Amino acid sequence: MSYCVNCGVELEQSERVCPLCGVESINPKQPRRENEPRPYPERLDPINARLNKRFAATIISIAIAFPAILTLVINFIYKGSAGWGAYVASSMVLLWFFIVPLFLWNRLNFLKAVLPGIFALALYLRFIEYLHPGKGWFFRLALPLVALISLFVVMIGFLIERRILKSYYTAAAVFAALAIIVIAVEYLSEIYAFGAFKLEWSLYAAIPSLAAAALSLAVGRRRSWRDRVNRRIHI
Ligand SMILES: [Zn+2]
Repeated sequence: MSYCVNCGVELEQSERVCPLCGVESINPKQPRRENEPRPYPERLDPINARLNKRFAATIISIAIAFPAILTLVINFIYKGSAGWGAYVASSMVLLWFFIVPLFLWNRLNFLKAVLPGIFALALYLRFIEYLHPGKGWFFRLALPLVALISLFVVMIGFLIERRILKSYYTAAAVFAALAIIVIAVEYLSEIYAFGAFKLEWSLYAAIPSLAAAALSLAVGRRRSWRDRVNRRIHI
């Protein structure tokens, strides 16, 4: 019987390295035996992992469907219509699209994780507009904002995932996106409310944001600055 020199775990004679810490196992008195049965399977069964994910997706779906169906049934019994159950049910559908696709994709990546939620959010807001028409706020206000914010989220997330955007460049991209988003919020809301636009409060948010973006970019580009900032904030 051998023990790992590093972590002390008990080693079978079939082990070339310690299965726990990866340190090579050498025992001159008990040389490794190639064909000895291994104490655990060579690899995890991928089918099992997929079944577990499906099981989790089913349980979460049931948990989400329950309040939606319950409120709809109560409303139909007492009012004869969906009533406020429509808000609960549509919110639950939205929640489903944010959570459950994470368990259903085979190879999850950033786009697969966020796109269902974004489309569901747009549909959800369109449904709320159907319940509260207003001056057509969905197409004039909600949809452009959701589209713009989603575009930045998708772009920045995709670039981070591909390791194209890193550390200070990520911060610069986020600050620049924030500046554009606040200006877009002021523009869209004023055009919607008054039909005219003058750049006002959003500038107070956009200018510091752009300054922060420029600073992050400058720090990211210069090694000496980066090292100094990293030391300051203990990275
Ligand atoms: Zn070990």
